[in-house]
Amino acid sequence: HDAAEPLSVSITVNSPEQMGELGRRLAKLLRAGDLVMLTGELGAGKTTLTRGLGEGLGVRGAVTSPTFVIARVHPSLGEGPPLVHVDAYRLAGGLDDMEDLDLDVSLPESVIVVEWGEGKVEELTDDRLSVVIHRAVGDTTDEVRHVTVTGLGERWAAVELGVLGA
Ligand code: ADP
Ligand code: MG
Repeated sequence: HDAAEPLSVSITVNSPEQMGELGRRLAKLLRAGDLVMLTGELGAGKTTLTRGLGEGLGVRGAVTSPTFVIARVHPSLGEGPPLVHVDAYRLAGGLDDMEDLDLDVSLPESVIVVEWGEGKVEELTDDRLSVVIHRAVGDTTDEVRHVTVTGLGERWAAVELGVLGA
């Protein structure tokens, strides 16, 4: 395929459990230095996906919505990278450097997952995985979600994202 074309996969998710499973599958593609940006309205399932991702990475601590903190570090229980879970909603201005978060881990050694990061964290790296979650417009009861995963930058150019929908 054309390397200039961003690689995308669209997946239909029917329940919170399936969203967790997608997160666990996504974790298998990730390595230290990766940035995942999650886009979707409140209640779309961003944190639910991150929880599955944390399970897949095998990290310590329950992944929850970080209400009082902007970022939380979940160290690996094994040899893998820690998960840095960022809720950029209340982050004033952009994040040009992980140093701004005052964490004890750096981007190259972590997997960083950001909710509400649009327009704020793009400066961190040219390579990122964009995950956009939609639900049927106006429907707040249905559990169906449409998820589009797009790989941006050299890091993702040769990665087969189709496995996520398998
Ligand atoms: P966000 O972080 O995007 O605000 P959360 O993951 O915190 O969203 O919350 C999603 C809510 O929607 C949870 O209460 C979850 O149980 C519910 N839900 C229903 N269907 C789904 C689904 N298919 N995927 C994810 N969450 C779902
Ligand atoms: Mg959330």
